[in-house]
Amino acid sequence: MLSLQNPQASDKSKLSQTNRVLLIEDEDLIRDMIVVALEEEGYEVDTANNGRSALNMLQSSDFSRDKLTPDLIIMDLMLPEVNGLDICRLLRYQGDITPILVVSAKSSETDRVLGLEVGADDYLTKPFSMRELIARCRALLRRQRYSSSSPSSVQKYRDINLFPEECRVTVRGLEVNLSPKEFRLLELFMSYPRRVWSREQLIEQVWGADFLGDTKTVDVHIRWLREKLEEEPSQPEYLITVRGFGYRFG
Ligand code: CA
Repeated sequence: MLSLQNPQASDKSKLSQTNRVLLIEDEDLIRDMIVVALEEEGYEVDTANNGRSALNMLQSSDFSRDKLTPDLIIMDLMLPEVNGLDICRLLRYQGDITPILVVSAKSSETDRVLGLEVGADDYLTKPFSMRELIARCRALLRRQRYSSSSPSSVQKYRDINLFPEECRVTVRGLEVNLSPKEFRLLELFMSYPRRVWSREQLIEQVWGADFLGDTKTVDVHIRWLREKLEEEPSQPEYLITVRGFGYRFG
């Protein structure tokens, strides 16, 4: 009966591994609905009903030892004790790059932008359909797989070393401080040297398909990256502008 109602059920067999989702939501009804929808799609779901207990779970060594570390985090913004923005900020500060989907009743553009700025990967405004939620989850996990399918060992290009698992980059032997977006951009570029990326492709890979800003955001981040990587940012040797197309690395 369930599979009849769910035309995507056959997709489940294509999932090579089970994806774990941590859902942080304080409204019981919404939390239960999301759990049912995710479990129907074959996800393993852990839940927390406030920010503090979510952080406790994420930071506990038992959680990682028992392989409960989530592949994806879905969270509300307005949470008791520790709010969603602070959770995002803290995880990103600690170098955790688990994809985060924010689901929130706060729908103003400022809230969306703020959520994305502090490191959320996607934003869904309540109320939303479960179909939409599942689609966003799939997209985020696909993107994650795509970026983690690149070699997880150190990536080197001339003077730049990128340590994917440590979220760390050195340039000419010195550590440079990159924001999560800058790090993901560089990781993507280094995974595909000389490949030309359009601004739209970079937005899709790094910010997510429904990113609200415009493609100038890419130019701004490229400029910041050049200032951190290039010896002479106005004469870039790593991040090359390909006129009429976009950018390439090397
Ligand atoms: Ca709430």
